[in-house]
Amino acid sequence: MIMNLHTHTHHSPDGGSESVADRLALAESIGLQIMAVTDHCEVNRYYPAEHYHAVASQVFDYDSQAVMEGSLAETTACKGTNPNVKLLCGVELGQIPQEPELSQRLYNDPRLDLVIGSVHELPDMADFYFLDYTNPDMKPLINAYFDEVLALAQTDAWDILGHLTYGMRYMPNRADYDITPHLPIIDEIFRTVIAKGKAIELNGSMLKSPAPFTDPDLTLLKRYRSLGGQYLTISTDAHHGAYLDYRMNELEQMAADAGFTHLTYFERHQPMLVSL
Ligand SMILES: [Zn+2]
Ligand SMILES: [Zn+2]
Repeated sequence: MIMNLHTHTHHSPDGGSESVADRLALAESIGLQIMAVTDHCEVNRYYPAEHYHAVASQVFDYDSQAVMEGSLAETTACKGTNPNVKLLCGVELGQIPQEPELSQRLYNDPRLDLVIGSVHELPDMADFYFLDYTNPDMKPLINAYFDEVLALAQTDAWDILGHLTYGMRYMPNRADYDITPHLPIIDEIFRTVIAKGKAIELNGSMLKSPAPFTDPDLTLLKRYRSLGGQYLTISTDAHHGAYLDYRMNELEQMAADAGFTHLTYFERHQPMLVSL
């Protein structure tokens, strides 16, 4: 297996109990060549709850600063300890458009190889995971989601655009949802990614759901490729070791089916190609 560039460890609030060292040993045992640790840092809740005059809850975790610092410190310490796995130091920054200056400062941390930019929530709303999907007209919400992803793409505080279709991930009727009205803005997002020399990821997190799918799906992956997209990463978004290589062969095959001959990883924010 070539790579898994999006993984969470015990530092992430939803990341289970495994350390970076645990993951490194597991990566070696399953033959994973390149692994990035990318724990969560929601930049709109970077400081403790008191800073925002708020209370932490099931819906909102605060103090991402502590998560990021712990993750970067441990990953940096583990670098070079295993000659068989290239370990990359990363972070998943959520909500970059809500805190662009803080995000740019975090992006410039000299320990970082790569930053995944993700939209998990819209301003003044909870993570899409917690939203109520009973409203029959989802189009305004999904419009707002892709507007925010475009705003993210237009910043420079990221290397890999995370799970492009996350805003649709938890829709109960996702397979029936007509994405056609959103294709113009998705194309604009793709063109922005390409012009900046950055990457998108093929995220297989939801392959473990009862109705499996990827973020994005093969159709959108082909669309990115046809617009000139060259840089693609692969990930399972593993929060537990059991998913470190989950259906990875299918993800690699999907990338090939979309016309990619290489995958990309980032070292010190520089794209590096590896044969698929
Ligand atoms: Zn995410
Ligand atoms: Zn993630």
